[in-house]
Amino acid sequence: MKRIAIDMDEVISAFSLKCLQLFNADCQTKYTLANLHGKLLTELDQRFHEKVNDYLAEESFFLNLDVMEGSQEALRRLSKQYDIFIVTAAMEFPASLAPKYQWLKKHFPFLNEKHFVFCGDKSIICADYLIDDTPKNLDTFKGEGLLFSAPHNVNNNAYVRLNNWKEVEQYFL
Ligand SMILES: [Mg+2]
Repeated sequence: MKRIAIDMDEVISAFSLKCLQLFNADCQTKYTLANLHGKLLTELDQRFHEKVNDYLAEESFFLNLDVMEGSQEALRRLSKQYDIFIVTAAMEFPASLAPKYQWLKKHFPFLNEKHFVFCGDKSIICADYLIDDTPKNLDTFKGEGLLFSAPHNVNNNAYVRLNNWKEVEQYFL
């Protein structure tokens, strides 16, 4: 079977949405995902620099992320024809390791936990495909890199773009 590596934050978990919700509550702002188009959080509002590390240091942050729409059904179907690996750069926020594991077991119980890869630099990953929202992870990937759409990457044209999990299924099945 061919091997597909799947990123977590912003691909199967709604990372930016949670950041915006916490920031809005914290700073009395009303940002939505639409405000993030073409921007990173810190480009949207400078104050994210100081705030975001506090948010991510809480274990509850990663435990309570929403699941991206359609990802569970799609991965359940894809896992019958492909080897699915979840590959996440957890070392930037070491406190995220345990909650990320729990989150995966809760929301993707049908995946083999031996296929959960918590890593630092993703260039070590060997797979046929990598689905990731961060172009720099695709730059160093040796297989076929697929860019999963996120507000911050709307202006990147370097990779085949998959806009949502319906499109991922259409691409592979
Ligand atoms: Mg990501």
